[in-house]
Amino acid sequence: MAKKDYYEVLGVSRDAPEAEIKKAYRRLARKYHPDTNPERKEEAAEKFKEIHEAYEVLSDPEKRARYDQFGHAGAEFTGFGGGPGADFGFGGFGDIFDILFNNLGGPFGQRPRGPQKGADLQMEVSLSFEEAAFGVEREVEISRWEDCEQCRGTGAAPGTKPVTCSTCGGAGRIRTTQSIAFGSFQTVRTCDRCRGEGRVVEKPCTACQGRGKARRRRKVKIKVPPGVDTGSVLRLAGEGDLGTRGGPPGDLFVAIHVRPHKIFRREGADVVCEIPISFVQAALGDEIEIPTLEGKTNFKIPEGTQPGAVFHLRGKGIPRLRGYGRGDQVIKVDVLIPTRLTDKQKELLRQFEKSTRGDQYQARGKGFFEKMKDAFMG
Ligand SMILES: [Zn+2]
Ligand SMILES: [Zn+2]
Repeated sequence: MAKKDYYEVLGVSRDAPEAEIKKAYRRLARKYHPDTNPERKEEAAEKFKEIHEAYEVLSDPEKRARYDQFGHAGAEFTGFGGGPGADFGFGGFGDIFDILFNNLGGPFGQRPRGPQKGADLQMEVSLSFEEAAFGVEREVEISRWEDCEQCRGTGAAPGTKPVTCSTCGGAGRIRTTQSIAFGSFQTVRTCDRCRGEGRVVEKPCTACQGRGKARRRRKVKIKVPPGVDTGSVLRLAGEGDLGTRGGPPGDLFVAIHVRPHKIFRREGADVVCEIPISFVQAALGDEIEIPTLEGKTNFKIPEGTQPGAVFHLRGKGIPRLRGYGRGDQVIKVDVLIPTRLTDKQKELLRQFEKSTRGDQYQARGKGFFEKMKDAFMG
């Protein structure tokens, strides 16, 4: 498909100065903006694309010079948003026009004003390890926008009501049609009088100065479910700021922070703790008292427990946030070797050592010494 001459597209002469090109572009861009051509949106978009492409090239002295010399091939138009033939959706127009016409005083790309959801609120709650594990109810205080109680959100003084704005007839926007040399174009701007609301308050409510809303401190109950962890976020629907023009209120998001525990560490739904035992307890076995999330309990260390041994107390961990059941309590055994032995103790250990056979250390020792043998003699 042959491209139209860029100068023709913008309706300027080949020697038009930069300012003239800019002026022509703005005039045409307004004329063919899809918002001002609701009946022929697609056609207008096509035309706008063409206009923009021409302007892209002719407004850039370097590209313009190449275009003058080599035509379309020389301009190397790469378009905006991905090169020639890129999908040119309507979504892009708002941005372009916001940038383009912001300094011309016309809020061109403004969308029709409908109900809007209120703003979401965020806060953090700090919980103990146990509170996070088993859930807790908390009352927090938040500050949010609510309907003014005196005027019930209308903004009008008691006994009065907001009335339809006479300037825009309640539409909130004002359309102006202007005639220009080549035809006419329409501009749409937000009504100054009602600021787009379509209604005006003649006697403002004294409590909220006519805003219809007020900041309130509210206590909100938060039910923290069992199993939350640092990074969990709870959503309390409808506890945020009030909406505008009949929109629903926003939500309250509560980020959970879990304080570390002195003994326990968390690994998913498991509760991990390290229990120190003496090397004698490890060798002979013992029954000791260990902490759990629900208090102390007795735990039997089996005979011949090795350093680093791990035991699981099934179902004694943290309830799973999604799903059933609980994790485990994981007990990691730390075997302590005594220091500062007395002479008598040393003598007892020497006697003990003499009485032991190598295969009594089967679990670890023999494997290593066998490997050493292999390494140096094999
Ligand atoms: Zn108005
Ligand atoms: Zn009020």
